[in-house]
Amino acid sequence: MTFSLMQVPGKWRRQLAVLLIGLAAMGVGGQGRTHQVPDLNWQPISLTNGSPVLFEVKAPAKLHAVSAAWMEHSINFSYSATDKVWYGLGGISLTTVPGAYDLRVTETFANGRTAEVVRKIKIVGATYPKITVKVSKQYTEPSHEQLTAISADKGVKAKVFEAVSAQRLWAGRFVAPVSAPVSDVFGTARVFNEKVQSRHQGLDFAVGPGTPVHAINDGVVLLARPMFFEGNCVVIDHGQGLLSLYLHLSEFKVKEGEEVRSGDLIALSGGTGRASGPHLHLAIRWQGVYINPAILLKIQIPAS
Ligand SMILES: [Zn+2]
Repeated sequence: MTFSLMQVPGKWRRQLAVLLIGLAAMGVGGQGRTHQVPDLNWQPISLTNGSPVLFEVKAPAKLHAVSAAWMEHSINFSYSATDKVWYGLGGISLTTVPGAYDLRVTETFANGRTAEVVRKIKIVGATYPKITVKVSKQYTEPSHEQLTAISADKGVKAKVFEAVSAQRLWAGRFVAPVSAPVSDVFGTARVFNEKVQSRHQGLDFAVGPGTPVHAINDGVVLLARPMFFEGNCVVIDHGQGLLSLYLHLSEFKVKEGEEVRSGDLIALSGGTGRASGPHLHLAIRWQGVYINPAILLKIQIPAS
């Protein structure tokens, strides 16, 4: 968390702001560079493995573009004229080891000149629960035909996950797909029939079959079809490598290629595929990394 002027009592804020702008203009602070130092913030304040992260850059000068390198990924920032802030969404994989990681921000000025600022950002280890789940034997010891189906699904998924819209299609805050209690959190370690171990890479909502399921933000439907493990599955491309996945559905209300807006009806819930009963599994994938949907739903997104 960086120092925020909002933490300063009102009467001092103005004087301090003037001083800070002066220091920034002189190139004081940061890496001792001569360009103006941006004010960097992020949400959530405490970052853990498995979390999404929204970076916000407040630059004193007018910029043409802002981008950042983050854990082998690249983030393109958008400008919010309302909130006067550049913002970019990223993620931290479940397998990320706690420690300090570089965020390398590149600012491009109107004249084409660029400036780079590197900040060390602390990642804390998250604590995730562990549970034992009993499922039908076919899912842990699949037959030959089932293995063929699973392998075909793998090909489809690889193609879907490859397709990334370079532009940001999402806008504004992310909304819950259903209004229901959570039955299993993201990150839970699952043990199936004492054999297969996996991490729960989504968020489960306790809904009966036939409950309307809504798009969490604007995007394009990449996939709307039955799969072996996922059951009837919808995948929405929100752009810049951000996907939302809705699993175990009973009925589709959208077709592949269709554009959707935040809150649009996309499907009805069910218990298809590898599910111990009807529920909605929501997963969020950012540039190949599964991130915690519950945190994404809470992030305050600047007005676009
Ligand atoms: Zn689930």
